[in-house]
Amino acid sequence: MAPLSWQSKQADFMNGLERGQDQDCVIEEQVRTDRLHQLFRQSFAAIFGSFLGAVMLCWLCWDRFSHQVILIWLVALGASSLLRIHLFMGWFRCPHAERTPDRWERRYWLTLMLSAGIWGAGALAVMPTDDRVSQVLVMLFTVGMSVSAVSCYSAYRYMTLMSMALVLLPCTVWLLFQPSSMQVGVAVAVLVFSTFVVSATRKLSDALEKAFRLTRQMERAHSISTRAAQTDELTGLMNRRAFFEHAHLLYAQCRHNSQPLCALMLDMDHFKEINDTYGHQAGDQVLRQIGGVISASFRQTDVYGRLGGEEFAVLLPNTSLETARSIAEQLIRAISGLAAEPVHGLTASLGVASIRSVDQDLHSLMNTADKALYRAKAQGRNQVAVAE
Ligand code: GH3
Ligand code: MG
Ligand code: MG
Repeated sequence: MAPLSWQSKQADFMNGLERGQDQDCVIEEQVRTDRLHQLFRQSFAAIFGSFLGAVMLCWLCWDRFSHQVILIWLVALGASSLLRIHLFMGWFRCPHAERTPDRWERRYWLTLMLSAGIWGAGALAVMPTDDRVSQVLVMLFTVGMSVSAVSCYSAYRYMTLMSMALVLLPCTVWLLFQPSSMQVGVAVAVLVFSTFVVSATRKLSDALEKAFRLTRQMERAHSISTRAAQTDELTGLMNRRAFFEHAHLLYAQCRHNSQPLCALMLDMDHFKEINDTYGHQAGDQVLRQIGGVISASFRQTDVYGRLGGEEFAVLLPNTSLETARSIAEQLIRAISGLAAEPVHGLTASLGVASIRSVDQDLHSLMNTADKALYRAKAQGRNQVAVAE
C-alpha cells in the first residue's frame, strides 16, 4: 500500500533530520547523474542523424565512390547504430533509480566511440584519392558531423572531443599529407575551425555543470530551510506549525476513513520551579530528554511535536481511547524514570481525548484533550485524565 500523504511527509521530516554533512558528496553524485540524463536526452536523434549523413553523402557521390566500400561502410554503420539504439532502449526500460553513471557511462562511451570510429574510417575509405570535388564534399560532411557532436554530447566534454576527433581526423590528416596545396589548405582550415569548436565545448560543458550544481544546491537549501522552519530547535521534534500541518492531514484522513483518532496533550508539572531551582539550562536539558522519550515512544504513523514551552501533543490514529490512556500512562512512567541530573522527580500531566461526532475539527479535538489535561492538573498532577 502506498504510504499515506501525512505518513510520507512525517517520514521525510524524520529522515531529513538524519541527513547532514554528506550532502556535498550527494550533490556531486547528483550532478554526475544529471549530466548523464542530459546526455541521453540530447543524443537519441544523433544515432539517426549520423547514419542519414553517411547515406546522403554516398547518394551525392554515388558515381564517384566505390560501391563496395559504400556497402561495407553503411552496413558497419547500421550495425553500430543498432547497437546504440539497443543501448537507448535499455536506458528507457531501466527503472529511474538504476540510471546511474556507474552503470551507463562506460557503455555509452564504448558504443559512441565505435560509431564515431566507423564514421571517420569509412569517410576516409570512401574518399577517392584523385577526385577533389568528392574530397571537399566528404570534408563538408565530416565537419558537419563533428559540429553536431557538440550539440549532442555537450554534457560530456571529452566525449564530444573524442567523437569529433574520430570523425574528423582520419580524412583531415590524410589531406594534410597530400601534395596539392588546396588539399593541405582544406585540412588546415578544418583544424583551425576545430580549435574554436574545442574551446566552445569547454564553455558549454562548464556552463551545463554549473547549472546542474546550482539547481541541486538550491534544492538542498530549500529543503534545509523548510526543515528548519518545521523543527523545534531544542527537542528536534516538529514545532507547533509543522505539528498542526501534519495533524490536519491525519485528522482529515481518519475522518474520511472513519478511523478512530486520539489526541494526547502533555504538560510538565511545576516546570517553572525546575527552572528557578536548577537554572534555565537544566530546564532545557530536561526538555531535550522529554523530546527523546517522545520520539522513541511513538510509531511512525503517529504525529507528535512540541507546541511551545513545556507542552507537547501527540495524535494516535487507529487507536482506541483505552489504548491511548495506557500509552499516556506509560509515558508518565517513562518521564518519571528520567535522570536529568541534577533534576530529579520529574512528572508530567496528560489529557487524552478521542475523536467524537460532535468534534467538528482538529481544534475541537485538541481543546477537549486540553480540558482533560487541566483536569489532570487540578486533580493533583502526575496523572492522566481522559475526556468524558
Ligand atoms: P504546572 O504546569 O504544573 O501548572 O506548572 P508550570 O510551572 O509548569 O507552569 P507553567 O506552564 O505556567 O510554566 C511553564 C514554564 O516553563 C514557564 C517557563 O519558565 C518554562 N519554559 C517554557 N519554555 C521553556 C524553555 O524553552 N526552556 C526552559 N528551560 N523553560 C521553559
Ligand atoms: Mg507546566
Ligand atoms: Mg505549560
